[in-house]
Amino acid sequence: METPRQLSITDANPASVTQDKLTRRAFLGMGSAALMVAGMVPSLLAAGSEKTDRSRSNPGPHNPSLDSQNPDSVTPPGTDTGGVPTFKYPFSFANKRLYEGGWSREITIRELPISRSMAGVNMRLTAGGVRELHWHTAGEWAIMLYGTARITAIDSDGRSFVSDVKKNDLWYFPAGIPHSIQGLEPDGAEFLLVFDDGNFSEFGTVLLSTSMAHTPREVLSKNFAVAEQAFAGLPNEELFIFQAEVPGALEADRNAAAGSLGKSVRDFAFRPADFPAIKRTKGGEVRIIDSSTFKVSTSIAAAIVTVRPGGLRELHWHPNADEWQYFVSGKGRMTLLATGNRSRTMDFEAGDVGYVPQTLLHYVENTGDTDLVFLEMFKAGAYQDFSLSQWLAHTPPELVMAHLHIDRPTYDAIPKDETVIMPA
Ligand code: MN
Ligand code: MN
Repeated sequence: METPRQLSITDANPASVTQDKLTRRAFLGMGSAALMVAGMVPSLLAAGSEKTDRSRSNPGPHNPSLDSQNPDSVTPPGTDTGGVPTFKYPFSFANKRLYEGGWSREITIRELPISRSMAGVNMRLTAGGVRELHWHTAGEWAIMLYGTARITAIDSDGRSFVSDVKKNDLWYFPAGIPHSIQGLEPDGAEFLLVFDDGNFSEFGTVLLSTSMAHTPREVLSKNFAVAEQAFAGLPNEELFIFQAEVPGALEADRNAAAGSLGKSVRDFAFRPADFPAIKRTKGGEVRIIDSSTFKVSTSIAAAIVTVRPGGLRELHWHPNADEWQYFVSGKGRMTLLATGNRSRTMDFEAGDVGYVPQTLLHYVENTGDTDLVFLEMFKAGAYQDFSLSQWLAHTPPELVMAHLHIDRPTYDAIPKDETVIMPA
């Protein structure tokens, strides 16, 4: 049945019929959008009025410093419908464990219940400070945020790996590979660890100290072929992080650890010089590092994203994995478009963790006046995403226009290729 006419448009010229239909479509589209907005957020229609200002005011108790960091929670955009579990947790809220030699804090599924597939740890080590020899049930991906450190491991052939890492270097230790981290001169290091398990906890790892402390001494004596007396000084509780002397020259450590077996042929570290080509646009840049380039990182893929002020990491989704985010610098906001007509916008800044469940549509917009830099992390061997623009641009135009009530010039303006980052 024909929809009743909403506008007086002449049909005298047959050539104008298509235009006529489009105009009516566009009008009807606007009408239903306006009705939807009116039903959902009536206050928007009266924006700017005194009544609206009072409707949005918060005369009771509130926390001005947190409110100022979360403007999209205090006054959500009119398009938000809510109903989305929180997908932000600042490291500032995390319980910091302090040791002589450094500290550690973590964000797991306990802190951020939506973060089922990944967890993160932020750690500081002084010069000489050691994250003790240990291994995990989860794979560990890391990026150096500050300073320098020496990392050690053995590979699955038992061969030794020792390397020094500096700011922006990465490393990856697969589950079960034993390793350590130690801060170097002049001021140690701070780094971010990302684990491929939301239930992971740094405090549930296999540590050298407690493994030895809880093995009968006579067994240690047999195992290492030395007298029991030699273990009289073993620590009887975990070390986790402790202060030690700054290690000597890298080559000396490498040779001593390699012994007769030789050094590992595997490289657990990854440096910016090894990074694949950066994809640059006017709006920013993105570097994708997954197992195609960082060979050992078989369970974790990463994108390091820079968005210029006003720029937008375009609307997209990831078909193969949840996204765990860490904000390195700047300010941004993200809307998570969930199933069942649910949506929520949250604000992020340096030190915050964000999370996007697999397949959900999202964008990240730079809302500050400096570059926004953040990490997109995935429990996957390969990075994958879909761009909303690319999908629409490669779907028959009439079909898309019939959905969105947009005209042909608007359809034609949609970028044909994945832009990744749109400029302001
Ligand atoms: Mn570890
Ligand atoms: Mn994403």
